[in-house]
Amino acid sequence: MESKPTFEFTDKAPQLNVQEAEYLRLLGFPKDHALTERSRELATWARNWYAEHGRPWIYARSAGGVGIEADKIHLSGAEFSSERLQSQFAAAQAHDAVLVAVSAGKECEEKARQCWQEGKPDEYFFLEMYGSAVVEHLVTHAAGNICARAEQNGMAALPHYSPGYTGWPVSDQPKLWSIIRGNNGTPFPADLDVMETGMLRPKKSLLTVFGLTRHPEKVAPGSKLVPCENCSLPNCNYRRAPYCDFMPQAETVGRLVLDALETIETKTATAPVLDKLARYSVNARALRKWSEERLQLEVASDGFITARFRYEGTTCSNFGRPIQYDYQVRLTPRAQGYRITEAHSTPADGDTGHAQQCEFLKDPDGFMSRLTAEKPLLGRPLNDVLTWKRPVNPAGCFCEAGSREHKWGMIFEVIHFALAQKGSA
Ligand code: SF4
Repeated sequence: MESKPTFEFTDKAPQLNVQEAEYLRLLGFPKDHALTERSRELATWARNWYAEHGRPWIYARSAGGVGIEADKIHLSGAEFSSERLQSQFAAAQAHDAVLVAVSAGKECEEKARQCWQEGKPDEYFFLEMYGSAVVEHLVTHAAGNICARAEQNGMAALPHYSPGYTGWPVSDQPKLWSIIRGNNGTPFPADLDVMETGMLRPKKSLLTVFGLTRHPEKVAPGSKLVPCENCSLPNCNYRRAPYCDFMPQAETVGRLVLDALETIETKTATAPVLDKLARYSVNARALRKWSEERLQLEVASDGFITARFRYEGTTCSNFGRPIQYDYQVRLTPRAQGYRITEAHSTPADGDTGHAQQCEFLKDPDGFMSRLTAEKPLLGRPLNDVLTWKRPVNPAGCFCEAGSREHKWGMIFEVIHFALAQKGSA
């Protein structure tokens, strides 16, 4: 049952206080990293440029009630199918929600693009990351406002959630935008376009939802719903738990990564980072099929890419038991050469076949630690998979080092193929 929104606010000039630790994180540095002379100069330049030219804004309004069904949520008359949002709202007995749109404005995006076109990739990167830090700061700023209002009315806010985060399809973005805009004629501080694909323009923007509950005990520490663990707001009077984790990046858009890379980077690129005429060891049909069916790509607001691949094989003995392994690879943005910064493989949740492999049966701990330690091509560009000499060993199991290298090579090729074919080379 929905009623009228109980509050609405627009902030056309929010106070900006982007914390150094947040900015460092988005730049890919540890939080206590000391910037060198050049990186300090770039970070200060980006901060000052934004302070002078940036046009951030925040808009928020209450949904006017929520409807929670077995597998759906209703907000302002629109239906959303997000298992995660539904379970969060149901667990906290949320009765309302606050719909929020924030944007760092188009100015920093335009300036970053100009830097790139002028052959200044360092300036481009630092300004891009500063724009992302601004978006995260605006969401935190909005959280401060929403939490204060909730506390004063005997309520509590839930952690914010957005289309494109795990368990909420990014394709719901246009629908969410249509209810945030509503039909009350509220003028927004600046234009925000939401593509059918879910991409936002300016891209340094975010649409999000904070649930509200009249049961503050539901968001107490230990409940899994305490929002403060993901909230970096300093000196908050209502903080319930220390800040210890990060929400998904503001612009995490699942498979949209490929389209985003296409529009943001390849239009301005001069030389391909990936060999588009690559000769792969795996045939193209298999690469296409696996890239469509087994590969998930996700881009963060800092441009880093996470690739997840589900491998399915069988043990070579023990009656050919099925095995499932999950691979995860992290790549630097295209502008930094798609370097491999992380590579992990582990048995998939619920997989039992891995424990039937001969080498596991001989020495479970030793076998698993060998697998965990193997991170081929770490630190090297993804394109190096094309010249990487590795054994041909297509065994379905993971017992031999050669068969594990063979699988890594295959997975790197699938990722390479997916990026190159989408025009993000
Ligand atoms: S620290 Fe907790 S109470 Fe304060 S604004 Fe953040 S989420 Fe809300």
